[in-house]
Amino acid sequence: MSNTTYNPFENAQTQFDGVAEILGLNQDMRDFLRQPMLETHFTIPVRMDDGSAKIFQAFRVRHNTARGPAKGGIRFHPHESIDTVRALSMWMTWKCAVVDLPLGGGKGGIVCDPPTLSQGEQERLCRGYVRQLYSQLGPNLDIPAPDVMSNAQHMLWMMDEYEIIAGAKYPGVITGKPVGMGGSLGRTEATGYGAVYTLQALLGCMGIKAEDTTASIQGFGNVGEYAALSYSELGGKVIAISFYSPSDKKTYTVRKASGCDIHQLSSIKDPFGSIDTEKAQSLGYEILDGDAWLSQDVDILIPAALENQITPEVFPNISDSVKIICEAANGPTTPDCDLLIKEKGIRLIPDFLCNAGGVTCSYYEQVQCNMNYYWDKHEVLEKLEHGMTHAFHAVHDLALEKDLYMRDAAYIIAIKRVADAVEKRGWV
Ligand code: NAD
Repeated sequence: MSNTTYNPFENAQTQFDGVAEILGLNQDMRDFLRQPMLETHFTIPVRMDDGSAKIFQAFRVRHNTARGPAKGGIRFHPHESIDTVRALSMWMTWKCAVVDLPLGGGKGGIVCDPPTLSQGEQERLCRGYVRQLYSQLGPNLDIPAPDVMSNAQHMLWMMDEYEIIAGAKYPGVITGKPVGMGGSLGRTEATGYGAVYTLQALLGCMGIKAEDTTASIQGFGNVGEYAALSYSELGGKVIAISFYSPSDKKTYTVRKASGCDIHQLSSIKDPFGSIDTEKAQSLGYEILDGDAWLSQDVDILIPAALENQITPEVFPNISDSVKIICEAANGPTTPDCDLLIKEKGIRLIPDFLCNAGGVTCSYYEQVQCNMNYYWDKHEVLEKLEHGMTHAFHAVHDLALEKDLYMRDAAYIIAIKRVADAVEKRGWV
């Protein structure tokens, strides 16, 4: 892990500034797009099970709504900060635009540590978040979803609180809800599967068969687990997976040179994506430290945990065998490391394209909620594969045509679409 401190919002702004220059955006447009349009900082008092009251810090940031209502998850994390939420909301704007969804970008966060909270405390925290933010949420205004350490049950409590206050049913106010309660089939798998749809498309362009490749993954939560599963279903071999263990506050990597059995690992993980190391060891896995995922001799690295994981400091640990970095997480690579990746000729599928499957399926969930008619899983995944593959090829073709790094090509497509909407509305 890197010892340098990176500010994710500064990273997001640096990436934007570089592409704004390439696009020749005027200064007013740059000033407008490099800041959020709205941000709310608030506190949530929660009655704890022991009768005491605890005050949690919370945020909601709306980066840009020129293309539609703000869309973005609510992250639960003990180190959550306003700058992380600002960066994530900005990336959501580009993400919705690159896959051409009629949505803007938003994000939320609560500074909390869910594994240390009881179910009742988590429920009161979720309901408190919506009570404080009620007037700023709505199916046509700002629509939250799950993110790191938040899940379908949290979304259901939030929707329920919104509906109690509104006095009517609004299933489209939040996505990532449980199936049968306004949730979409395929939403749980969507981000991980979506990342692998883009990986499969890139492998196709490179003339490589998935079954001839190996991968190492950081994170075994919602995104990492389903990315691992669909990649192995294509015939790829996952050699190593790293994760964070909340009980001993350490990161570990489980490794099996012959290939990890993803179903087996899923059966010994907790709801927050931590694998039981004792059980893994008894099943023949090596247990290494958390950084080991990065230095494996594999073809593909799939960061699927947190931001700022691939930095110039750790870059030398990446094996020469690595050909592709598939950014399933948000912001896993720092801008100063992009230069090194580019130089080394590693192909990188940028985060806001690679992990757009989640928001794409969230959009499908909203469409289904609005119709009150739900599609079968096959229909959802077929639409998702088409949408992700189409967006990937648009980015890849532009990168080839103009000899661009894929992150820059994705930014060019996304920023152009957003700037165009801002201009047409007459905002700037
Ligand atoms: P999650 O909470 O379900 O899982 C996170 C995983 O990362 C867990 O396995 C955890 O143990 C691991 N982890 C945390 N810190 C780590 C560290 N320092 N080293 C190694 N592993 C670590 O979260 P998620 O929903 O899977 O999200 C993962 C990433 O994907 C985040 O960047 C998130 O913003 C992004 N993302 C998520 C979605 C979604 O639909 N859930 C959509 C788009 C992007």
